[in-house]
Amino acid sequence: MSGIWIYSEDSMIAKELLTVGLALKVSMGKSVGVITLASEEQDAFIAAGADKVCILKGQNPWPESYAGAVADFLSKEQASVLLVGGTLRGKDLAAKVAAILKTGLVTDALTVGYVNNGIETTRLIYGGLAIRTEAVSLPAFVTVPPRTYTEAPAMAGRQGEIFTVEVDNTASGVSVSNVCPIIREGADISTASRVIGVGRGFSKKEDLAMAEKLAQAIGAEIGCTRGIAEDSHWLPSERYIGISGQKVKAELYLAAGISGQVQHVVGVRDSKIIVAIDTNEKAPIFAAADYGIVGDLYEVLPLLAEAIEKK
Ligand SMILES: Cc1cc2nc3c(=O)[nH]c(=O)nc-3n(C[C@H](O)[C@H](O)[C@H](O)COP(=O)(O)OP(=O)(O)OC[C@H]3O[C@@H](n4cnc5c(N)ncnc54)[C@H](O)[C@@H]3O)c2cc1C
Repeated sequence: MSGIWIYSEDSMIAKELLTVGLALKVSMGKSVGVITLASEEQDAFIAAGADKVCILKGQNPWPESYAGAVADFLSKEQASVLLVGGTLRGKDLAAKVAAILKTGLVTDALTVGYVNNGIETTRLIYGGLAIRTEAVSLPAFVTVPPRTYTEAPAMAGRQGEIFTVEVDNTASGVSVSNVCPIIREGADISTASRVIGVGRGFSKKEDLAMAEKLAQAIGAEIGCTRGIAEDSHWLPSERYIGISGQKVKAELYLAAGISGQVQHVVGVRDSKIIVAIDTNEKAPIFAAADYGIVGDLYEVLPLLAEAIEKK
């Protein structure tokens, strides 16, 4: 069987997957390549470690319509591994490709390793309460959630093979009747380097101003627990963090009035430093935190904002 292939309709995620692909390359002794629709990124993929770049060239604008073309290509290449960026579109394509080629597919893998001549993955189950290890024989197809890995760094002077595959089998059942932009309120918290998370410890919406003041002082974005967005509607739904919301990978995550249920913590635990403020010293958030302040957020947040503003 031949090499390791990576596919994502998002070039940044493809570069994240190169980090995994390059580790597999070392353990499997096989080449690593990127399948892409983005021809303008071909040199960047080679610089980030790809040995080969396959550009799919077709007329269809919908990335998921290229499942047949990806399957044909992998079949011809006799690929050992396909790593797919776990976006909605990526998972759609991965499932179709796996069905066409009748291979195993693991979704949402957090680690991907080469063990006993097959692929071993881990992923969270039971809402993040347990980690499941799965072994898949080759060829193995795996989706990896965005931002699980950092992008493979660019190396100057790398050479690689770049080729184009003309695609005409992109028939799709989708027809577009209308296009309108998604209206987002504020920044994308999933890429913010500092985030203050607010929870039900806040008694009323107006009190969020305390968190916003501190956020302004330290250059942070505001995130929240599900109830704050979905039940109270104090913040838009794209601001809630957790298993069914956004994933945050911040340098600093400060949780204020958040108990730290696993469904929330799953969305923040990849942050570098977690700080928690809660009146209940037994709140589970303290088990996930690097620094904890047992105290009333109504006292602590203004003190923190004041101390930082004085600096
Ligand atoms: C299938 C499923 C999916 C879910 N997905 C998500 C998800 O993606 N994201 C998510 O967030 N939740 C999710 N939940 C809900 C989750 O289980 C918790 O209910 C939720 O995270 C709790 O939110 P909270 O911490 O704001 O509230 P609470 O659990 O009520 O905690 C409030 C905390 O504030 C503290 N507090 C109170 N007053 C003060 C004060 N003055 N100063 C300091 N601290 C104070 C309390 O001690 C307490 O620890 C999900 C649940 C289910 C069943």
